[in-house]
Amino acid sequence: MIQTIVISTIIILGGIAGYLERSLSSNGAIAAVIVGAAVYFGFGIKGLLLLGLFFITSSLWSKYKSSAKKDIEEKLAKGATRDWGQVAANGGSAALISIIYYFQQDLVWLIGFIVCLASSNSDTWASEIGTLSKRKPLYIRTFKPIEKGTSGAVSLLGTTAAIFGSMLIAFAGAWLFDLQLFHVFIIFLFGFLGNVIDTIFGAYYQQVYICNKCGIATEKKVHCQMAAKRIKGYHLVDNDMVNFLSGLIAALLAMIVIYFVTR
Ligand SMILES: [Zn+2]
Repeated sequence: MIQTIVISTIIILGGIAGYLERSLSSNGAIAAVIVGAAVYFGFGIKGLLLLGLFFITSSLWSKYKSSAKKDIEEKLAKGATRDWGQVAANGGSAALISIIYYFQQDLVWLIGFIVCLASSNSDTWASEIGTLSKRKPLYIRTFKPIEKGTSGAVSLLGTTAAIFGSMLIAFAGAWLFDLQLFHVFIIFLFGFLGNVIDTIFGAYYQQVYICNKCGIATEKKVHCQMAAKRIKGYHLVDNDMVNFLSGLIAALLAMIVIYFVTR
């Protein structure tokens, strides 16, 4: 009982700190507290530590050399202050799996949970570090150079960051939950795969708008204070949707593998 009160206080203080640090908007902070509570409900303090590792490292990389990322922010739908949609996209599946795990404590769900975080971490590190690459990234559809900040762009630096982002969560998860080396490998592999799926979906299905006034290609629906025109991608498929789906698909695939290997 006392532990629950203490932990609940820590989760709420974490949300407030994220808001004050401008890593989270007000509705983003509320969403983060809900995700934190769900994770604690299912996976206890260990789950919360893993979620914290993702949240803190990703926020730090977002802030790292943020002035160099200013131009790119014009192309992205949202800035470094995460709103509820971004929190749900990165933590929603992990929160849902946590609640399921409370009722059915199976290794398959545990692996799914960690893969969700590994995928989010991999993708966030890739975006936040990759955009600092000195060279222009390549577009995955053509393998020709493209402007930084375009969804579907890949760079050596970004891909390296994605590998380390997934690996960190895989090893930390294995250490916290006492997993085998095989599980570390599966989590790492599918966490990284989540980032790859994210890149592919971003390149093929995600919305791109063009500003009617200044002509910039952007993910913002509104630019120069006027509605921008959609030139590419599907209705409802924005960056949040792509993040959410790629993490979920990666987790489901990993869970299928674990299910058949352990039975
Ligand atoms: Zn404009």
